[in-house]
Amino acid sequence: MIVDVSSVLESLPAERWPLPHGDLFIGSFDRLYAVIEEAALSGVPRHVADCALKSPIPNPSKILGALNNYHEPADDADYPVSTLDRDGLFLKASTSVIGPSEGIELLPGRQHEHEVELAVVIGSWCRNVSRERAMDHVMGYTVALDMTVKGTEERSLRKSLDGHTVLGPWLITRDEIADPGALGMWLQVNRQSRQRGNTRNLLNDVPRLIEYASSFFTLYPGDIILTGTPPGAGPVVSGDTIDAGIVGIGSMRVEVR
Ligand code: MN
Repeated sequence: MIVDVSSVLESLPAERWPLPHGDLFIGSFDRLYAVIEEAALSGVPRHVADCALKSPIPNPSKILGALNNYHEPADDADYPVSTLDRDGLFLKASTSVIGPSEGIELLPGRQHEHEVELAVVIGSWCRNVSRERAMDHVMGYTVALDMTVKGTEERSLRKSLDGHTVLGPWLITRDEIADPGALGMWLQVNRQSRQRGNTRNLLNDVPRLIEYASSFFTLYPGDIILTGTPPGAGPVVSGDTIDAGIVGIGSMRVEVR
């Protein structure tokens, strides 16, 4: 069930241009939590199926993505070397974000691939944070589809088309996940299984990714870190239906057109 708590937005501080970096709602979340709970108790519950789910973070200041960040247990004999120190992280345009109800529009004449990922949502300003303190700056998690156009152009261009970062079905807070390093995830295309994985197979875990990212730039409330995709990324075409989920967060259906 879903309850409309939009009234709490009235208590956000008024901002005037030039706006500060970061997402105002996520940055204010700790302070708003009690008001949200109160509004949730007095609101009218509605079925999830009756609601069009938009991105829970509409305006991240940046989206970072990890590359080749999974290994399969079966491959332990040939354990791959992490590429974080060699390849770093890539950036996606913040305008690529949509929610599951909006659907993914493909670029005509080009091949596209799906990637299901755990998305980490930064909750508070940080720079040069150690891995020991990194989780203090996590606000929560969503499921992400990191969509890619195949080709020779720069990765940041091919992954930044409108609608190529799907976040959803909702944002859950950090306290709801005991261990972000033990989350099963899956993705189906037209009800056929394509990807299955678990964040226990991450080469660089969530604290390490935050530590690394924050050594290059300041992270702001609402910034997103896509933690990489497990094996099985594959093609989608117009008319396909993607179902993707992470155990403990939720699942979403996204139409491709
Ligand atoms: Mn990816």
